[in-house]
Order: sequence, then structure tokens, then C-alpha cells
Amino acid sequence: MVRSLPAPENLGVDMIGVPKDADVELDIRLESVMEGVLVTGTGRAPLSGECARCLEPLTSEIEAGFQELFFYSAEDAAEDDQILDGDLLDLEPTFRDAVVLALPLSPVCQDDCPGLCTECGIRLADAGPDHRHDKVDARWARLQGLISEHDNDQEG
Ligand SMILES: [Zn+2]
Ligand SMILES: [Zn+2]
Repeated sequence: MVRSLPAPENLGVDMIGVPKDADVELDIRLESVMEGVLVTGTGRAPLSGECARCLEPLTSEIEAGFQELFFYSAEDAAEDDQILDGDLLDLEPTFRDAVVLALPLSPVCQDDCPGLCTECGIRLADAGPDHRHDKVDARWARLQGLISEHDNDQEG
């Protein structure tokens, strides 16, 4: 059984998530078991967010598998378990958990994204491999001075 549903709000974390109302495609299988209905499924949805290294917007896709037993009666279920509400299956909490688990912790726009220049903040993927700053940080310059003085002491 394949169904398409609009994505709920706030499906994701700060950096990346499924846009609200995006098409979520659910491929689910229902099995009757003793205590209730076992739902096994896979959800596919678009992702949008920003690169953890260079903050460039990015889009990608997520696929998350899930399994949940919906109990017929609350008597058999523990506190966190799902209960069937008539013949309604509320898959949203299950799908939400599965998506959050499957989200990349540090999404990147490309696998080898070089990030941002620590000096000027430019995106290094745009700036090219030759981008560098010759200016030495003043604190480092002082250290360099110390080192050459030290060398002179040794010689003298
Ligand atoms: Zn990037
Ligand atoms: Zn720079």
C-alpha cells in the first residue's frame, strides 16, 4: 500500500528537515497480529536545509524505515505504545521518530565541501583552491618574532 501525504510541521532538526507539506510517500504493510496491527513501512520525503560546513542551502532526500505495533486495546499496551483509534492508524509520531533518526547529523552540500574561509568567510568551494591570505594574524606574528629572537640567542 503506497500513500502520499503532506509532511507535518517541524519534521527535522535545526540544520535540516522535511519541508512542511512536502510530499511524503509511505509504503506500508499491515499485518494482523494477536494484540493488534503491526505496521511495517518505508517513508520517502524530500529534505531541505543547509550545509553544516559552508551554510549553503541544500536539498536532498530521506528514506526512513519504521515498524510499529498498534494495539487493539490499551490494556495490552505500555505507556508509550500506540493504540488503534477505531481503524485509524496515526503514523505521524512513528514516521517522525524514524525521520529524525535517519537525518544526517552534519548535512553537507557535497562530500568534500571545504567549508568557509576562516579569515574572510568566503565559501571555499566558490573561491577555488588558490584562495589564501598572506596576512599573518598579529598574535602569530608576535610568536614568530619570539622564535627568531630565541634562535639568535642560541647562536650568540
Ligand atoms: Zn558546503
Ligand atoms: Zn579568505
